[in-house]
Amino acid sequence: MKKIGKVLFAVVVAAVMVACCKKENDKFTYNVDKFYDLEILRYQVQGYDELPLQQKMLLYYLSEAALYGRDIVYDQNCRYNLRIRRALENVYLNYADKQDEQFVLLEKYLKRVWFSNGIHHHYSEDKFLPEFTRDWFEAALAATHTDLSQEVIEVMFNPAIYSKRMCQTDGKDLVAESAGNYYGEGVTQAEAEQWYQEHKDDSAEPLWIGLNSQLVKEDGQIVERVYKVDGLYSAALEKVVENLQKALEYAETPEQRLAIEKMIEFNKTGDLAAFNAYCIAWVKDLNSRVDYVNGFTETYSDPLGITGTWESLVNFKDLEATKRTELISSSAQWFEDNSTTDPKYKKEEVKGVSAKVITAAMLGGDCYPATPIGINLPNANWIRKEYGSKSVTIDNLSHAYSEAAKGNGFNEEFMIDDQIRSLYEKYGVLCSDLHTDLHECVGHGSGKLMPGVTKDNLKEHGSTIEETRADLLGLYYLADKKLVELGLMPNEDAYKAGYYQQMMNGLMTQLVRIEPGKDVEEAHMRNRQLIAQWVLQHAENKEVEIVERDGKHYLAINDYEGLRRLYGELLREIQRITSEGDYAAAKEMVEKYAVKVDPVLHREILERYAKLNLAPYKGFVNPVYTVVCDKDGNPTDVKISYSEGYIDQHLRYSRCYSPLPDIN
Ligand code: ZN
Repeated sequence: MKKIGKVLFAVVVAAVMVACCKKENDKFTYNVDKFYDLEILRYQVQGYDELPLQQKMLLYYLSEAALYGRDIVYDQNCRYNLRIRRALENVYLNYADKQDEQFVLLEKYLKRVWFSNGIHHHYSEDKFLPEFTRDWFEAALAATHTDLSQEVIEVMFNPAIYSKRMCQTDGKDLVAESAGNYYGEGVTQAEAEQWYQEHKDDSAEPLWIGLNSQLVKEDGQIVERVYKVDGLYSAALEKVVENLQKALEYAETPEQRLAIEKMIEFNKTGDLAAFNAYCIAWVKDLNSRVDYVNGFTETYSDPLGITGTWESLVNFKDLEATKRTELISSSAQWFEDNSTTDPKYKKEEVKGVSAKVITAAMLGGDCYPATPIGINLPNANWIRKEYGSKSVTIDNLSHAYSEAAKGNGFNEEFMIDDQIRSLYEKYGVLCSDLHTDLHECVGHGSGKLMPGVTKDNLKEHGSTIEETRADLLGLYYLADKKLVELGLMPNEDAYKAGYYQQMMNGLMTQLVRIEPGKDVEEAHMRNRQLIAQWVLQHAENKEVEIVERDGKHYLAINDYEGLRRLYGELLREIQRITSEGDYAAAKEMVEKYAVKVDPVLHREILERYAKLNLAPYKGFVNPVYTVVCDKDGNPTDVKISYSEGYIDQHLRYSRCYSPLPDIN
């Protein structure tokens, strides 16, 4: 995971509101479904109805292109996933006795497979097992005339095989031990690394070799299978291209048109130079209202951090809220100059960090159903340096999270007193939005690497350290008077709500996502724990501490300014590690603070959380868009509807947007 990570996942400590969302009939319902540790929400596309037809049509075709990538991410996650999903859906639709206990368990398992785009947990990477029996399943397959080989059934039921989607254990063969399908059968980590080394592009404007391909072994040789039309995933990419072509007709600006054209070319040819051209055109397109991500983008799921997972996010700018991020990005140089980092690691000139607040209109591929709340792209460092980056905060998704969490009892259980709770109620959402803005725009956009250092230097700890850096910049500036001066913060106390929430989450409440006895693995969770534990262990004057009250443990913050100084101190060191590419220090930092969990505190947190009956992970259903035409077949409107349920949505996607063969 050598990459600049830039996706910020929701700090979803918050969770469900179970009863209160079944509001009056005319009110929007956020909560859709809940099973295992997952909850499905619905998001509202505020401002959609006011958009002109051209923008609605553009959103529509980009959304169609988003949905056609769904099969790709299933197959990237594990080569058996498409076969398993299709067999389950066939049994689900055709099995006669829907009341059968075993069938009910199959439905639950299938809902989980849909959520994870496969048979591994979307966050922990662990394979989850069916609760129905293998005997019943085999009989149900026969009864519904569903073909599924013993080999695949074994993958579903045997806990010992393909147990991790992505293996991150030091000392193991990360490629061979991962179920992810970025490498073919029999390819080892050493072979893959050697191949990347040999094919690496060291030019000033390098191609991202390996971004869009699977490495496989043929006759003992490593060869590349490129994701493209007439290559790997052709049938899906053809449909993506077809809809991008239609979207072109509605492009708003020449830059947007060029970006879409380059993305089409990239999908058709697999040519990485076209991808670079796409990134540059895309980052230059600042005037379009509608925007999108569509393609092989983030590399978190490849154990070697090279190959992109297919994702899509279709959106449009929230003009009012964007004034907030424009204020921040217009002060980007001030933020760069005034942070605690060593001047030699600062950018002399912060270029083109454009930041906006967006409204998500469609989620696809790896962004669906679980989704980021902030994104900063493109990922290639040289493009970021030359042309800047676009940073977004997705407000309507954050809004859905916080609406759905209202009144769920979480803050009452875990926050130390009424004072912090009422501060959090007033300013929690604002702090979280501003932190996301700062994380994406100031955080990922800041700092520079010393000559000869690349993002690859920190290897498997690169993502965690990069996220730590971005979070720390966000935290450090959240408390700065500058935000009050800019009119973004109402007063000099509001930031405390954000400080408390971040520390509480990193030290305690995010552990609700971890099973007893397991380590923290995901990069964003590691970064949050790294920051919180480092601060706790360096709080020599008890700036922060864990206190016990009536047998329960709470975070107490005794000195907010002191806490800010500690954030600043850690930021200085994390920037040094990044700029120097100091792998040994990164490894020590991560291993010492980010990974291990106190088992006693962990058990207590889990018990307290269990009583609230909440789900720690959230995902979404998408709205449905329908083109309305006049009698001559000319589009007059694109209607939006929020009525589709979770199961219906996935069955429809599998029916209408599933062009890939079982085996790719
Ligand atoms: Zn980030």
